[in-house]
Amino acid sequence: MNYAVSRNANPQPLGSTVVAKFGGTSVADYDAMNRSADVVLSNPNVRLVVLSASAGITNLLVELAQGKDAERRVFLLDEIRRIQSAIIDCLNKPDVIREEIGRMLENISMLSEAASLATSTALTDELVSHGELMSTLLFVEILRERNVAAEWFDVRKVMRTNEHFGKAEPDTTALSELALQQLQPRIQEALVVTQGFIGAEAKGRTTTLGRGGSDYTAALLGEALSVARVDIWTDVPGIYTTDPRVVPAAKRIDRITFEEAAEMATFGAKVLHPATLLPAVRRGIPVFVGSSKDPAAGGTLVCNTTVNPPLFRALALRRKQTLVTLHSLSMLHSHGFLAEVFGILARHNVSVDLITTSEVSVALTLDTTGSTSSGASLLTTSLLTELSSLCRVEVEENLALIALIGNKLSQASGVGKEVFGVLDPFNIRMICYGASSYNLCFLVPGNDADQVITTLHRNLFE
Ligand code: ASP
Ligand code: MG
Repeated sequence: MNYAVSRNANPQPLGSTVVAKFGGTSVADYDAMNRSADVVLSNPNVRLVVLSASAGITNLLVELAQGKDAERRVFLLDEIRRIQSAIIDCLNKPDVIREEIGRMLENISMLSEAASLATSTALTDELVSHGELMSTLLFVEILRERNVAAEWFDVRKVMRTNEHFGKAEPDTTALSELALQQLQPRIQEALVVTQGFIGAEAKGRTTTLGRGGSDYTAALLGEALSVARVDIWTDVPGIYTTDPRVVPAAKRIDRITFEEAAEMATFGAKVLHPATLLPAVRRGIPVFVGSSKDPAAGGTLVCNTTVNPPLFRALALRRKQTLVTLHSLSMLHSHGFLAEVFGILARHNVSVDLITTSEVSVALTLDTTGSTSSGASLLTTSLLTELSSLCRVEVEENLALIALIGNKLSQASGVGKEVFGVLDPFNIRMICYGASSYNLCFLVPGNDADQVITTLHRNLFE
């Protein structure tokens, strides 16, 4: 209650400021929003709150953006209205916000109709941005009903990106200038609530940072404002040795380095958006991951160093991987083939994940992390056609990528035996080891993934 008073009377130096980000499940409904508000108010250093859309909303908006017939549009819009109205109905004074959310819903309806006539990536971003716009409006209202001086802030004023709609890249120079001008003074005065995931290009059109991009937003704003810590509140209390839903014996990791956590995020641990740690590493800002459902359970701190980094840290799993194998006899004793392959992939905006080569072939998997907001496949017909003009192309689907994350893996002896010794019942499709001292990756058939993870976890971590 006296939170607002102490905030104004006694502004903390910016050096102790914390940015707190809450994911979709943490703002899913009225109760979840209140638990998140408790978390915010329990730490007076939290000055900036970054939110995802309420759980489920972004998926509904993405479907609307694909251009649906009138009947489906009505159904989807009703779903969105139902989720947000359930929150409004619990407020003491719902009228003002009901009107505001009503205007947002009208906007969504109009944009969805436009999408049914012609879809575009710019229109998709404009549409899906409403999820975060609505959740932040609702959260501000919840804070105000608790007498907190909370202020809604449109992140598009500062989150400047390029024009790559669906997965835009931030312009960190512009962002830090704009954040210092427009955001910094506000967080001295009030508790500021803003949107994750969305941004704007130079002409002001709305962009998005790719699915799950709110974590990235929080870290980018944290970097721009040089805050002391970024807290990521989600529905799991931290980072585990592997996904506890696959292996119940998985253990929480209390402290982990940026490098290890970045490998984990990149290779499929869904706790953090893969790009999140880049800004944090640039400024050495620690990132805390915890559960807003159970804040007392603690969480994982991602930071610069840990004591006694273990050889094996964690196992990450990424499903639905596609292996592309390119065969060409002209590769034999020639040069330039790989350059041509990579040139084609680059023109199609596809980045390669794993790669192995032989004398006449090269096998690679495509990087599908932080997929675009429209959810389109990376392996398009035009990409396949272009590759086929160069060589014979084979595509194998439904594989799983398993990454063992650790420290100095490539310098230790016996790693191969320890890992693969217990995996003899399984067909290992591809192995990448040696390029990074932090990981060893391999592909297995998708259906074997859970068993492989369980076996390895038992052997290396239990
Ligand atoms: N709401 C967006 C999504 O569902 C961004 C996020 O949740 O981080 O992808
Ligand atoms: Mg999310």
